[in-house]
Amino acid sequence: MKSYPVITAHGISSKDFNSPTLTSLKDIQRWLLVCKQNQIRFETLESVLNSKGARLACLTFDDALTSILKVVEYLPSTGTIFVATDYVGKTNRWKGQPSWVPEEKCLSWSQIKELSQAGWCIGAHSATHPDFSRCDVHNIRNEIEFSKKTVEDQVGQACRHFAYPYGKAPVSAQEIVEESGMIGYGTEPGWCDERQDLKFVPRLDIYDLVRSGMASNWAWDEPDGFDLQLMKYKRWIGAGIRNVRRLAS
Ligand SMILES: [Zn+2]
Repeated sequence: MKSYPVITAHGISSKDFNSPTLTSLKDIQRWLLVCKQNQIRFETLESVLNSKGARLACLTFDDALTSILKVVEYLPSTGTIFVATDYVGKTNRWKGQPSWVPEEKCLSWSQIKELSQAGWCIGAHSATHPDFSRCDVHNIRNEIEFSKKTVEDQVGQACRHFAYPYGKAPVSAQEIVEESGMIGYGTEPGWCDERQDLKFVPRLDIYDLVRSGMASNWAWDEPDGFDLQLMKYKRWIGAGIRNVRRLAS
């Protein structure tokens, strides 16, 4: 059975610098070139799972940060953007955001609508970006349903995609996402095939894909379980080192 990667990114940096939530424009351009040379096409997850045989990937951006506009012109096609609806037009300084994550401006509704009109798929990412593992079911339901409705009211299209904040997806959250008719995206590393449980879709982080030549190959060549574990571990270490540097400075 054929498997496909769903790739996740956050912000794009003009500087030659990568962190778990910030990818340098230069590195992402280099990775896109390798994807082009290997004839990888980007599609929405539904199109990816309905297509057979082609080299397809789904590209997603969490948090709807303005810095993604830097990369839009270089992408061969559109992707999916996940919006934390209470923070539209503000910054990514929500409660619970780790202090090592650089502060960035979030897209405004007019920018999001423009991207939607240009073919981008707009998904929800909760209203206030809470950690669902620390929320009660009532709160989780409100966050999911309110953000879905806000996206639909603002963009004028059905919202069928939801990314769990921090990738935290307790079973209750997965059930509400499924009930709401949406696909739920996590941050567990892995690939998708047609048997994928759509309540909790694994993704590959762009941070892992751009950092080494080997990881770049994972855009078309499925990594084994060991590689995926290693990736998760390295990302965790990367976040830890950033945190220690911040504390030391
Ligand atoms: Zn997020």
